[in-house]
Amino acid sequence: MKTEIQGAGSGDQNKNHRGKVWLVGAGPHDAGLFTLKGKAVLEQADVVVYDHLVGQSILAMIPKTCKRINVGKISGNHPVPQKEINQILVKEALEGKRVVRLKGGDPFLFGRGGEELETICENGIPFEVVPGVTSAISVPAYNGIPVTHRDYCSSVHIITGHTKNLERADIDFPSLVKFGGTLIFLMGVASMPVICSELIDAGMDPETPAAILERGTTAHQRRVVSDLAHLPEESAKAEIRTPAIVVVGKVCSLAERFHWAEDRPLGRLKIMVTRPKGRSSALTARLQEYGAEVVEVPTIETDMILENELLSEALKNIGEYQWIAFTSPFGVQVFFQKLLELKIDVRKLLGLKFAAIGTATRKAIEDRGILVDLMPEIYDGRALGEALARRIVAEDEKNDEQQLVLIPRAKIGTEEVLKPLDEAGVLYEDLPIYDTVEAPDDEFSWYDDTVDYVAFTSASTVRGFVRMAKDIDYTTVKAVCIGEQTAGEAAKYGMKTFIAEKASIDSMVELFLELGKNDGQ
Ligand code: SAH
Repeated sequence: MKTEIQGAGSGDQNKNHRGKVWLVGAGPHDAGLFTLKGKAVLEQADVVVYDHLVGQSILAMIPKTCKRINVGKISGNHPVPQKEINQILVKEALEGKRVVRLKGGDPFLFGRGGEELETICENGIPFEVVPGVTSAISVPAYNGIPVTHRDYCSSVHIITGHTKNLERADIDFPSLVKFGGTLIFLMGVASMPVICSELIDAGMDPETPAAILERGTTAHQRRVVSDLAHLPEESAKAEIRTPAIVVVGKVCSLAERFHWAEDRPLGRLKIMVTRPKGRSSALTARLQEYGAEVVEVPTIETDMILENELLSEALKNIGEYQWIAFTSPFGVQVFFQKLLELKIDVRKLLGLKFAAIGTATRKAIEDRGILVDLMPEIYDGRALGEALARRIVAEDEKNDEQQLVLIPRAKIGTEEVLKPLDEAGVLYEDLPIYDTVEAPDDEFSWYDDTVDYVAFTSASTVRGFVRMAKDIDYTTVKAVCIGEQTAGEAAKYGMKTFIAEKASIDSMVELFLELGKNDGQ
């Protein structure tokens, strides 16, 4: 019996074109408001066609291999005409590509999603729609304005302020006044004074609360709450610019009590987190918990050294070592991966003592069921070297033997960890097991003056950042660094540096909380 799968669309369509278009809403800006489905679709895309309102942190989720087409802006600052966008979608899909059309907010709310679907349908291309969180409701929410409240209104109206001429013929202001609901105008920054005066002319009380909300859900969101009579003047004073939405109605008065987003400890900071490619940053999650807007940018890649005879040799003779010292979680990962590859059982490590440079590395070791024997007070290379040297010299004297330390780490690692061992005459083997390379050039110029701080967790992330952000004035960069060495690298380029007290992620978060207290207030 022939079975038809419901919802699979016309079989003929699917046969003719392997390609497909997903119309995806990216939400208002905050990456946390992007839907799970949208993210899943984005990660599988071959081509992404996006607008200027899509948040940077969402664009950062686009896979590197994916073709990106920015239709929000081209060189002369003019957006690509709608007809051309439609053609791009069709062309890419007909070539068999998985095309994601990524739009700010929700694709069907003043997003021209309908127009694009017409062309897509005409060409028989299969498609799906992934709704997004619209700015019309979420931007007021991030400003403490519930768009409805039973005490104040019974409806909400979303209106475009971008009409050819804002005469009564375009928008029926008297009817809007009669409904008595909350009014939300998108694309209305330029026409806001006209909107206010038309509403007053149509009989609305000039003292009706009204607000304009700029760059909502970002670290730099601003709001002006006033009334219909004074909003134009107040907004001009504050120099409110697009993108912003205008809200009219009693609910606006609640912002004074309900504002919250910018009050979070890091709610006013936009932080760029540089990290190795392919590994998520523990720092990002922590900063987001405190309300920061985070753009994660991979500036370096770490690769396991594949043909590593030295490592294989060391592992086969692991019994010859008494200590093993790790300087990064990635080193731990590579070490145990290689053990498995060589079919060497972890029980062969019996009796070996483990040292870790800091808490993240210790956790990576503990995750493998091994407790760490030594971790320095300060989490850096020199401190690890010193602590190891002290301990080993004492043990060697006591037992009248000389122990051997294995240090599996990055190929271009710092010499700091080795110096104290050399000075104390401790025997060790410095073993390169992974390589750090700066990430390839990226077409995005991620860094701009909206970034408040850049977080660096190693000197190589600084070098990677410098390679990616070539044409900027580095003296404007405020670099939050995990330790002295990283800060030293940042200072070479003239960046203003801030150094975490202890070289750990926790300590960096503490530093950001301190900086958040003084910034943007
Ligand atoms: N489809 C989008 C709206 C597109 S029209 C949505 O559902 O949100 C573009 C208008 O949306 C802008 O002119 C502005 O009025 C509003 N807008 C979008 N993002 C915004 C933001 N982060 N802050 C304030 N207004 C925003």
